[in-house]
Formats: sequence, C-alpha cells, structure tokens
Amino acid sequence: MSTTESAVILPQDYLFAGPANALDELVEWSRRLGADPSLVLRGGGNTSVKVAEEDVAGRPVNVLRVKGSGSDLAFAKHADFAGVRLDDVLPLIERGDMSDEEMVDYLARTLTDPRAPRPSIETLLHAFIPAAAVFHSHADAILQVVNSTDPHAALDDALGADILRIPYRRPGFLLSKEVGEAVRADPSAPGLVLLNHGLVTWGSSPEEAYRRHLELVDRARAYVEARNPAAVFAAESRYALGDEERRRAAAALAPTIRGALSADRRVILRHTDTPEVMAFVSSARGRGASAAGAATPDHILTTRVHPLWVEVDDPADTDAAAGAFVRALETYRADYAAYAAYAAYAARHRTDEGLQDSFPRIVLVPGVGMFTAGKDAKQADLARDIYLHTIAIMAGAETLGGYRSLAEGDQFRA
Ligand code: ZN
Repeated sequence: MSTTESAVILPQDYLFAGPANALDELVEWSRRLGADPSLVLRGGGNTSVKVAEEDVAGRPVNVLRVKGSGSDLAFAKHADFAGVRLDDVLPLIERGDMSDEEMVDYLARTLTDPRAPRPSIETLLHAFIPAAAVFHSHADAILQVVNSTDPHAALDDALGADILRIPYRRPGFLLSKEVGEAVRADPSAPGLVLLNHGLVTWGSSPEEAYRRHLELVDRARAYVEARNPAAVFAAESRYALGDEERRRAAAALAPTIRGALSADRRVILRHTDTPEVMAFVSSARGRGASAAGAATPDHILTTRVHPLWVEVDDPADTDAAAGAFVRALETYRADYAAYAAYAAYAARHRTDEGLQDSFPRIVLVPGVGMFTAGKDAKQADLARDIYLHTIAIMAGAETLGGYRSLAEGDQFRA
C-alpha cells in the first residue's frame, strides 16, 4: 500500500463486527459508564459505535451512532444515539478549519433520521478515530492528573509514557481533527487524554472501549489516592461555627444572595455544607484553587468559569457577610473579560442557559458553605453536584503540585 493510500481511512475497515447488536451493546456499556458519577455527571460524556446499517430505501450505509445532546448516559436508550453518515463526515478531516456553526449545520444534514437528537460538538472526534467504538468522559481521576502543574510528568507516572495527549483546545472542529490525526498515527496507544478536559478510549466494541476507559481511570485514581487528597483542604479555626449556628448564618444570608442573583431572572438557590465543602470554603488553599476556574469545558455552562468567593472575617456576622457578598458580586460582574469569554463560549455551544446575565452560579462563603443557583431546582442541583466534583478534582490536583485550569490565560477565546 502506498503512503497516499494508507492515509485514507475507509469506514468499512473499522465498523463494528459483532456478534451482538451494535446499538444494544453501546446502550449497555454507555449505561455502565454513566452509572458512576465520578466518571460521568448527568448529561456529561459521550459514546459511539460505527456500524453498517440500511438507509430509508434499504441501501447499505456506514453510520456513526453517537450520543446526541440532552440525554444522560446513565439512562441511555437507543433513540438517544443520532445516526451520522460516515461517508459524509470522514472527508472533513482534510479541511483546515470549520466554524462551530458550519460544523453543526453540516452534521444536521448527514443524519440518517432528521428527527434524531442534535449531534454533540464532539461528534467529529468520534468519527475521525479509526476504531469501531469510542468512549469519552470527563472522569474526576483523569482531571486530577491533567489539571495539575506538570500534567505530562504526572501522566507519565500515572498512566505511562505511551498515553496520547492533546494540549487544551476548546471543543470543536480543530480539536476533533487533532484527536483523529493523533490516533491515526498511533492507533495501538492505550488511550488519549485531552489536557484540562478529559479522556478518550477506543476499541473494536463498546465493551472494549469501556474496559480500556475504566482501566485508565482506575490507574489515575490509585495514583492520586496514594497522595491523600482528602487532607488537602483544612478549615481555618477562625471560620468554625457549630452546625446550628452555621445553618442560621446560611438562612440569614440566603435571601440576599437569591435576591441579587434573581435581578434578571428568578433563580433557585441551594445551600450545601458537607465536611468536604466546609474544609474547602474555609481554607486559603481552597480560595486559591477556586480562583483558577472550571475543571473541564463541559462544566462551564452550568457553573460558569469562576465561582464567587465572599471574603468574611466572622461568618456569624451575617450583616457583614451580606455586605461583603454585594461588593464581591459587583466586582464579579464588572470582570468583563471573564464574562465575555464565557458568553462567547456559550454562544458557540448554542445554549440559552444564562447568556443574558453575568451572574455567578456558585457562591462560596468561608464558615457558611456553598450556595448554588440555577433557573430551576434541577439546574441548581446540577451546579451543586458539579462543584462537589470540582472540589474533589482540585484536591487531587493539589497533591500533584497544584490545580491548573483551562480558564487561565483566557483560553476560551482560542
Ligand atoms: Zn468532552
């Protein structure tokens, strides 16, 4: 085979070959991946399989079945996986670039069924990888390793030198192309990490892609756990309140926070004061880590790039805390650079979630706890869940020299 020919990837060379039904197997192993919140949080992650199907007229067609937007892997069902015609999307890897709008419009026209859910911004990443099945997650343990000060050294130690790595780039065409080219150059690598983003594995079946995913996550987890991340954040004694006093302070502060965050649109507010949260919000180290930003681009639409940190001397003095919150909120909203970067990011992802406002979704108060806001209870709970995982990710990365985020250097503009 000549060099030119070997560069061409033919879809029939890596279609799922059975023996089970491809979509049945994809649904089963996607659910397993989605069942563990340290691997996949509600709505996060995506999985795919490439399979020979028949089109509406009964003609053979090579199809990428990939999780569409708005579904949850934990409860995956056949209809959640959009069918994208591989022969239409594979030639795209030859292009230099493609805007998000162009890519989304193009993908919509390659669907085998126009009623399918909208394919995700990461669809081409799945398509370009020369393997029947691809699993992608933002697993906590992987983010602990890749969001650290020296991710390459940590990856060498935790997962081995042969793991492929792609520097941070926002999700979109170029990231998909880089991933596709990296895996085509080294298809027998154990997996690929996206720095400040997540993990990708592949295999000849969904089960194989899942098992490789779990193996790498387990190795990363063992590597970080051996460094005792649970001891990273320790509350300062000046912020220590009794349980009742803390709840009273939270109840006194909540109306001010809810009212201010509801200026444009009413929000639901949740208060969380688990031991992990209290150790985090009551420590200088927690404050430093929180300022670095989100752990993966997937979380930003729910939590924003940054939380709002309220500086207080005495958490029992709720009048002073309310005043400090109002001042901190003014500064937060005035920080146009961070907001503009977020707004541009959200626009590229065509979300209607809060583009109109520059309010935080996470408010952290030393001694009092974490407040999370959302347009409804589901969003407020999701923001809470994501930030609980973010705290755990920060703790792990701190044991590897320090937490580093994709937000640094305003990389959302890239
Ligand atoms: Zn992702």
